[in-house]
Amino acid sequence: MKVMLLFSTILVIFALIFPVAAAWNSAPAVPGPDAGAPAGDTGGGTEGGLFYIPPEYAAPAKDALTEISLLAGGEIRNISVRDYLLGAVSAEMPASFEPEALRAQAVALRTYLARKLLHSTSAHPEADICADSSCCAAWKDEAYLREKWGDGFEANMAKIAAAVDGTDGEYLEYSGEPALAVFHSSSSGKTEDAGEVWSVPVPYLVSVDTPESAETVPSYTVSVTVSASEFKETVLSAHPEAELNGEPTGWITDPLLTSSGRISSVLIGGVPVTGAELRSLFGLRSTAIEFSATASAVTMTSTGYGHGVGMSQYGAQTMALEGADYREILANYYPGTELKA
Ligand SMILES: [Zn+2]
Repeated sequence: MKVMLLFSTILVIFALIFPVAAAWNSAPAVPGPDAGAPAGDTGGGTEGGLFYIPPEYAAPAKDALTEISLLAGGEIRNISVRDYLLGAVSAEMPASFEPEALRAQAVALRTYLARKLLHSTSAHPEADICADSSCCAAWKDEAYLREKWGDGFEANMAKIAAAVDGTDGEYLEYSGEPALAVFHSSSSGKTEDAGEVWSVPVPYLVSVDTPESAETVPSYTVSVTVSASEFKETVLSAHPEAELNGEPTGWITDPLLTSSGRISSVLIGGVPVTGAELRSLFGLRSTAIEFSATASAVTMTSTGYGHGVGMSQYGAQTMALEGADYREILANYYPGTELKA
C-alpha cells in the first residue's frame, strides 16, 4: 500500500490581539537610556549595537531608532529593531544563503516584529517578542554566533548586516497593517494555505508554487519507520477507539488532501487523524507524507520541513539562485501584500 498524503501543521490560535503601541515603522519610539545604537548612527565595530559589524559594513539605519523588548533566556532585553533583526536573521536562515534570500528573510522578520508590536502575545504580554521559535522566531546573541561560526563570524555578520540594512525599515503591509509574515523551511512544490493549518484563512497566505527540490534542500525527504506495535500503541494513546487489528497494510485509508496536496486527514483504524496530529505523534518534518506498510512496520516519508505556510526559506534561496531579487521573492510568497518603508 502506498498513499501520497500531505497534511497541515500545528494548530495555532491567533489569540485576540490588543493594540499596545503605535506601529514602530510609522511612529518610531524614542530610544530609551539603554537603547542599542544611537539615533542615526549605527557606528562601526562594536560601538552602539549589540553585534560587532565590520566598520566597512556599518550603515545608518532607521531600524536602530526603535527599541523593542525581547524575551530571551528568561530575561527581557530592550534592544533596537536592528539588533533584533541581526540576531533573528542569523538564527533563522543559514548565513551561506544568497544575499537576496537573506534580504527577503530580513523583511519577513521585520514585518513579523511590526505585527507583534501592534498585537501583544498572550504567552508573554510583558515582552513584544521572544527568542523561542516555537512561539515567535528564533534569536541568537553574538556570543552564540561567535561560537557557532568561529572564524566565519565577521564575514557572516557582514552578510547578515547587509541584508538587514539593505532593507532598512521595509516591511510588508496588507490592508493598512503589517502582514502576518510567517515562513517555514521548505515545501514540496506548493506552499500551504493558512486556512488548512490554522483554520483561519489569510488572503495573502495562500498556496503558491515554490521551486525548491531534493537537489537544493538537504534531507528534503525523510522517512520514519516504526514497528507495527509501536505505531499501534502511539495511535491508541491518542485515539483508543481506533481498530488496529490484523496487519498494518490495512490500517491507513482514505487520505484527504489539502489544496496544496498535504494531508488534511487520514483514517487510521477507522478514526480520522489530522496531518498535523500525525506530524506531532511521530515527529515528522511536514504534513506532506507518503505512507507504506508491511506486515510488521509502517513507514511515513515526509517531504519538506515545517508548516508550509508563507515564505519557504529554501524556496527563497532557490529563487535567488535563479536571479530573483528579494522583492520578487516576497511577492511570490505573500501575494497581495505591499512593500513599505
Ligand atoms: Zn513569543
